[in-house]
Amino acid sequence: IADANTATIEFRDVSFKYINGKPIFNNLSFTIPAGRKIGIVGGSGSGKSTLVRLLFRFFEPQSGNILIAGQNIKDLDLASLRRAIAIVPQDCVLFHDTIYHNLHYGDLSKSQEDVYKASQMAELHESVKTWPKGYETQVGERGLKLSGGEKQRVAIARAILKDSPIIIFDEATSSLDSLTEHSILQALKAATLGRTSICIAHRLSTVADADEIIVLENGNISERGRHQDL
Ligand code: ATP
Ligand code: MG
Repeated sequence: IADANTATIEFRDVSFKYINGKPIFNNLSFTIPAGRKIGIVGGSGSGKSTLVRLLFRFFEPQSGNILIAGQNIKDLDLASLRRAIAIVPQDCVLFHDTIYHNLHYGDLSKSQEDVYKASQMAELHESVKTWPKGYETQVGERGLKLSGGEKQRVAIARAILKDSPIIIFDEATSSLDSLTEHSILQALKAATLGRTSICIAHRLSTVADADEIIVLENGNISERGRHQDL
């Protein structure tokens, strides 16, 4: 449906509320040019993750339209829409399997080399290499519980491997130490390079390198601009 050169994302007067819920968006409009990065910040419950769900068509707005590469996502084949977007979710779900399989995700078109490369770009490879069983380590086995930062890096590596023109990062809620946060930001930089990206963050500093930042408040954009202007 789109490649990295055409994957513009446009929200046009989008209004949405969950069934029986309060309004989340009132005539929300914004455009992300192809290949650019937008940062989204806003308080808990302001609708940041909801915006991702609308784009992925888990829910449909009551009014307004969402377009990718100029096409209304309503008219797109659902599978192709979801292939075009890689999501790094707030809470990444891992299977009870090896770290390798958790990264590879059963995608037969991807080689071991692809997996390692994505892992490297996501700043995960070096950590995995220090574990006795490396990529064969079972997630969840004998106390090897991945930290929040590692889980989010697994999700970033998966997104890199998916190689889609659009990537969405929904920052984990758990607080991370500054070293971990730094490596996540580095991983994110690699993952968003050349892709149309949405980076949802809790703090403005996390999205300082975005081409534009929008602040969500009370169903709409309360502020927008580059980091230095906000
Ligand atoms: P956070 O920073 O905590 O992740 P958020 O900005 O991502 O918050 P959303 O998850 O988009 O917030 O939720 C927006 C509002 O919609 C919240 O008040 C939430 O309780 C509500 N909400 C979310 N999912 C549903 C649902 N499936 N049904 C009804 N209400 C929902
Ligand atoms: Mg959220």
